[in-house]
Amino acid sequence: MTTRIFRSIIIVTAATLFLSLLITFGVIYSAYADETARELRTETELVAGGMKNSGETYLEALPKEDTRLTLIAPDGTVVYDSHYGAEKMENHLEREEVKQAMADGYGESQRMSDTLTERYIYAARRLDDGSVLRVSVKQFSILNMILRLIQPILLMVCVVMLLALYLAGRLSKKVAGPITHEIDELQTLAERQRQEFSANVSHELRTPLQSISGYAELIKDGIVASNDIPSFGERIYDEAQRMIHLIEDIISLSHLDENAEPMKWETIDLCEMAKNVIEHLKVPAETKNVSLAFHDECGDECAYVYVIPQLIREIITNIVENAIKYNKNGGHVDVSVKPFYNGRGVVVTHFLLSVADNGIGIPDKEKERIFERFYRVDKSRSKAVGGTGLGLSIVKHAALIHHAKIKVEDNVGGGTVMTVKIPVGQE
Ligand code: ADP
Repeated sequence: MTTRIFRSIIIVTAATLFLSLLITFGVIYSAYADETARELRTETELVAGGMKNSGETYLEALPKEDTRLTLIAPDGTVVYDSHYGAEKMENHLEREEVKQAMADGYGESQRMSDTLTERYIYAARRLDDGSVLRVSVKQFSILNMILRLIQPILLMVCVVMLLALYLAGRLSKKVAGPITHEIDELQTLAERQRQEFSANVSHELRTPLQSISGYAELIKDGIVASNDIPSFGERIYDEAQRMIHLIEDIISLSHLDENAEPMKWETIDLCEMAKNVIEHLKVPAETKNVSLAFHDECGDECAYVYVIPQLIREIITNIVENAIKYNKNGGHVDVSVKPFYNGRGVVVTHFLLSVADNGIGIPDKEKERIFERFYRVDKSRSKAVGGTGLGLSIVKHAALIHHAKIKVEDNVGGGTVMTVKIPVGQE
């Protein structure tokens, strides 16, 4: 973490430095080019003024190191050139700056030298006798300029980078310190939870396996009377069923934990799904002599929600199953779906799925804890009804993925009401 923050600060500083140097050079170079052109124009005017009085001899007397002077006759013939032999030079009538000067009195142009290694800037002035005086200077390339400034630039880069290294070191430690500490704590917590979960799973699996093994051993050793064998078979079957449920719940939870399967989001009608789940739970409800009913409170509208259907199904199934399991003989379970409107009561933002039972109820102090893994209010009762202690953890996890909220309340006259507030969601 510290290294990553440190590296990022250094990269950002280096990139910013490089960019600002590039912009600075661009600006300086363009200002420098403008200044050169302005000076060249003044120089051309001055030389033209001098020639008025002294003629060509004035040109010959001028210093020639940096500036090249050329005199061109009205027909384009080069009469004088400070750097090359005039007689060997070709006709200059077609040179851009000369053409401009012939036409307008003054002309300017820039071009690369014949070898394309240097750039020249030219200024030409028509004289009174129709000939043209041309003055040219070599223009620095941007590379030239950088090479000239390389020493101060390197010094500046070194100072800035050293400063950045120092500040990045301090800053990354300051920022990363508390984050790393929190990550460490979270990792320790996650590790502790993982260990607890593994211990619980082992314990929960060992118990039914030991029972199965014990019953099977009694049968194998011929200790069980033949008319008791069916009841022993039933116990083995029940324990095996408990193990299957437990393993199914563990698989569901680990899928939710690891997000192993990228689950598909779809638009579904919550009423249709609730009705379907109830249909599937009719038999266990009848077995427990509990009546199961659905109340559609959406009017003519459908309860469309954009969700992961398999998770919403798990939510409804687990809550309704509990309402049946923790009910009493002759009890009832009422499932309803109704819209929840926004502040102004116009737009439906959520749907409320409520499952009300008149069963044994949940004491207030347990209402929060029942969502913990393997937590049961009454362990023996949960086992007796085939509970695994994982159903509501799956519900909590699945609700979290949908940003849904769960409320647990006492039902009037006894029992429990669980309400899940599911956002309508968006495709
Ligand atoms: P289990 O598999 O034991 O039912 P759950 O995670 O589904 O595990 O529920 C945790 C505990 O919450 C249950 O053991 C039970 O004690 C309590 N519980 C859940 N739903 C109800 C309910 N409708 N009425 C009474 N108790 C409930």
